[in-house]
This record gives sequence, structure tokens and C-alpha cells, in this order.
Amino acid sequence: MRLPTIPDLGNLSGRSVLLRADLNVPLHDGEISDDTRIREVLPTIWMLGEAGARVRMCSHLGRPGGRPDPAFDVAPIRRRLSELAPGPELLDNLRFDPGEEAGDPVTAARLAAGHDLFVNEAFGACHRPHASIVGPPRLLPSAAGPLMLAEVAEILRLRRGPRRPFVVVLGGAKLADKLGVVKAMCTMADAVLVGGAMCFTFLAAAGHRIGSSLYDPERVGDCRALLNGGYPLHLPEDLVGLGPGGRIGDLEGGGAVRQFGADLPDGWLGADIGPGTAAFFADTILDAATVFWNGPLGAFEDRRFAAGTFTVAEAIAETRAHTVVGGGDSGAALAVMGLAGSVSHLSTGGGASLELLERGDLPGLAALRESAERLSLPTRELEDIA
Ligand code: ADP
Ligand code: MG
Repeated sequence: MRLPTIPDLGNLSGRSVLLRADLNVPLHDGEISDDTRIREVLPTIWMLGEAGARVRMCSHLGRPGGRPDPAFDVAPIRRRLSELAPGPELLDNLRFDPGEEAGDPVTAARLAAGHDLFVNEAFGACHRPHASIVGPPRLLPSAAGPLMLAEVAEILRLRRGPRRPFVVVLGGAKLADKLGVVKAMCTMADAVLVGGAMCFTFLAAAGHRIGSSLYDPERVGDCRALLNGGYPLHLPEDLVGLGPGGRIGDLEGGGAVRQFGADLPDGWLGADIGPGTAAFFADTILDAATVFWNGPLGAFEDRRFAAGTFTVAEAIAETRAHTVVGGGDSGAALAVMGLAGSVSHLSTGGGASLELLERGDLPGLAALRESAERLSLPTRELEDIA
């Protein structure tokens, strides 16, 4: 894939650059609990500053729902940013404006006004056609920043011909969002290992009893078709269940915890893969040459159901394979275990990395390419950069 890069924008001296970043950091009581996303974009800010550009930044923060909400004020990020990289101004939370998520061209024009150039570093938001993602490239010469280029190159390398065996581990809750990538990976990977809440729709489709586990009745048919497609798709063969009356995250609230095979009794909720499945997943990961992982294998925030996710995370840290982890809650699980530094690439964008893996392109990337085409600006082949 070709993309315009910052050097392709020409001389930056004295020019005003709008930098779309992903500063969507976790906040607890107004305090930033993890400033990784701020730190990651610092080299881009320095690079633009050294080239003589004036930088204004914008980002979304949380889900304020299209109106100002003090709980999602970017003031704590502004403070942190001014300590780490004095200079750039940070605009208000983009999602205070309903036009942002609606992709409103008026919102985009307001954002772009007063700037000469646009740089996108918000990989994690590029799968959404939001105003700040697709709008400025229609109005300003635009480029992908180095963070974005690294993210895109990593994921596209998986699509192009990864070293084999290529093993994909998928978990988490959102089957509706992830079915497309399961499908795509079934034809690309040597093994697709499915756990997390999303495995129960597959188990139901395979005729197993899933008790009270989370599942998506509308997608049982799609899951059955995949299971019958002759793909290297692996479901859990044992499970950890939470008994009637229990609640995930409520350790004192009762509810027994027991191991089962692939069938659960009525009233029991499947909350983690069992130890046999975790061991099989770990062995498969250890024998792989390339691994992609997205989504926890169980409700890992509750320590009774963390073992499956932790076993997989340890195998991913230990394997000699090239390992790419697709952000979100899987990244959080790695961080909790102190293993975030043990993977080859930890993506900042969960949804974006999945969609790029599935489709090979994203609305935010297409917007940058179209911008360069329209203005006849140069672009670079990603393979030549990485
Ligand atoms: P990611 O952010 O990594 O893409 P998701 O957001 O799709 O992952 O899902 C993560 C959530 O899924 C976690 O909060 C986890 O507790 C939950 N989860 C995983 N497995 C189960 C399960 N078996 N039952 C209930 N919740 C689960
Ligand atoms: Mg998530």
C-alpha cells in the first residue's frame, strides 16, 4: 500500500500542522492511569517542531456522546502534554461535537480552518469515517505519521505472507465485530484459535450446550457455515463455568466455579477456557512462526477467570514467533502481567487492526491516499519504509 508521509509534504518551516492523534488514555478520577498513547506520539511532535512547523493537536477522549461533558475534558491530557512536549496546543475533545462521529463536512472544515497541512497519527480511529479522520484530507495536503506507518506496515505484513505457521488467537466479547476477521483468517492462517465470550456462539452452532453463556443468536448460522467449511478453526474443548447466582467480578457474591468439557449445564455461564484448551493454545503459539492475538480468552478482569488469558499471554511472550497483539483488552491483559514489552508489536488500535487485517484498507488510509492523488503529492510504498 502507498501512503503520503510527512517528508512528502515538503518544507514545513512556518507552516501550521493539524495533528490528529489518539490521546484516548484511560482516566480514573481525572488522573491519567496510563500515558502510553501520549508518549508514543512525542517523537512525531518533536519531528514536526524541529522541521519548523507550528503544531495543533486534536483527539477524541472516551464516549461523551456528541456534547460537552466535564468527565471527558481533555484538561488532564493538556497538562501531561505540556510537561512532556511544551508547545502544541490541544483542541477540545473532538467528540463534544456531534459532527465528529457523524462525519460532518462542516465539522471537518472548522477543524481544518487555519491550518496548512494535516498529519494523521490516530491509527486506532482510522476504521471510522469520522470528521477528523476523513475530513481534513479532503481539504489539506495530508500525510500519515510514523506511528501510523508502523502500525499499518505490521498488519499488512500479516496479510501479505507471514512466516508460517501463522496462528491467530481471537477472543473477547464482540462476535458481531469480529466475525469478519474470523472468516478472513480462516483462509489465511494455519490455525485460528477461538476463545472468550465469542466462542459460545460457535459452540452453540456446533451443537454444544452453552448454559447461560453470552452468545449471539443471530450469528449461529454464520458460525455453523464456518465450522463446516473445512477451515483450521479450533474451539475450546474444556471450559471454566460460573454457577447459578454468581456474577462475574463479584468474588463474594456466591456462585460456584467449576471445570467442564465443551458442554455446560443449564444456568452455568462459560467464563474462561479450561486448562486443557489453554495448554493446547499455548503449545500452538509456541510452535508458530507468526502469531496475531486479539481479545481475552475469558473474563480475565475477575481473577477466577484469568488463567486462560494469562496462559496465552505467557506463551505469546515466550514464543520465538513474530507476535502482533491487537490492542484493547488484550493489550491491557499483557500490561497487567508486565508483558507488554515482550511482544514484537502491540497495536494501539484494537478495532482498527482487526478491520485492516480483514479488509486490507481503512477509511482513514483511503482518505490520505485520495488526498495525495487529488493534489498530485508523492506517496511511498509502505514496504520501502518499514
Ligand atoms: P478487545 O478489546 O481485546 O478487542 P473485547 O472488547 O471484544 O476485546 O472483549 C473484552 C471483554 O470480554 C473483557 O472485558 C472480558 O471480560 C470479556 N469476556 C471475555 N470472555 C468472556 C466470557 N467468557 N464471558 C464474559 N465476558 C467475557
Ligand atoms: Mg474492548
